[in-house]
Amino acid sequence: MSILRDVKRTLMPIYSGLKHVFLKPYTIKWPYERVPNLSDEGYRFDPKTGIGYPGNKGRHLLYMEKCTGCGSCDLTCQNIAEAITMTYGFDVVIILDENCYEAFKGSKPEIVKALDVILSSFSAEPSNIQYNSLSSFFWTLTGVKQVTKVDGGYEIKLSLEPIFDVRAVEVLYQKIYPAVERLKATGWELRKLEVTTESTSVELSKQDFTINILIRKIDMGYKHNRRSLFPSIDYGRCVMCGLCVDACPFQALEMTSEFELSAISRRELIYTPTMLAKRPEEFNITGVPPELNVIERMRMVFRRIIW
Ligand code: SF4
Ligand code: SF4
Repeated sequence: MSILRDVKRTLMPIYSGLKHVFLKPYTIKWPYERVPNLSDEGYRFDPKTGIGYPGNKGRHLLYMEKCTGCGSCDLTCQNIAEAITMTYGFDVVIILDENCYEAFKGSKPEIVKALDVILSSFSAEPSNIQYNSLSSFFWTLTGVKQVTKVDGGYEIKLSLEPIFDVRAVEVLYQKIYPAVERLKATGWELRKLEVTTESTSVELSKQDFTINILIRKIDMGYKHNRRSLFPSIDYGRCVMCGLCVDACPFQALEMTSEFELSAISRRELIYTPTMLAKRPEEFNITGVPPELNVIERMRMVFRRIIW
């Protein structure tokens, strides 16, 4: 009897293994495949039932047109992960005095270089600006939205999305100050620095030239949110609990099925309101992993058809 029992015990795992050879696999080759039949619906608060509507708890979607800037989501998160920070939108304007503007139109290298340094501070890539003085109607200055004549000079507005931060001084330290330090190394002098929570103004001069950089709080035009105050979310901290969604009295926050949020720097995990307001892109399944052999490739294509 004991021999029979031992044989049975030996054969059972083999039988179990063989049986699974013919079953549909539960592993998927991400990112070439997605979990089949996963609903695209995100977790959201259902005001009718007063409870959360079940759905995926991926990154949030912010409806800026509904958000009043009340800060309930921030308050709720404070005892959980402190992932939400209420932030204002800021605009950056560069003001060149008449001398500076004329020198810039004449492609004077030190002025072009100075503007390049300032513009580069907003992007990882060099802005590589050029100004073609022969065709003065055509700006080829990367990053410029409009140029307006103002008292004593010209105002250059950058075509940036609003920069979201808690205070103007944060924008100064993170974006402008590195540029100021680089300019000081090339002979520019920091003549004035005025800092308030609403705006920050920096004045630089060199010989007869003066450049002003102004960071100012903007009104994004939402009547119900005059302060243009919106939540930013740090996904390095967020635990995807969804309580901020429950706490929002205006259903301005939802969650989505976008869960692939990995980044190579801590800073990239901080989603500004404009990033949160973008709907996740549809996942496009294309290609097959290069390491698969012919049979595996065929199986993968077949799985895509039947899922
Ligand atoms: S889902 Fe994230 S942001 Fe919202 S309350 Fe939970 S931890 Fe905070
Ligand atoms: S998302 Fe909702 S809770 Fe958060 S600030 Fe906007 S309206 Fe208030």
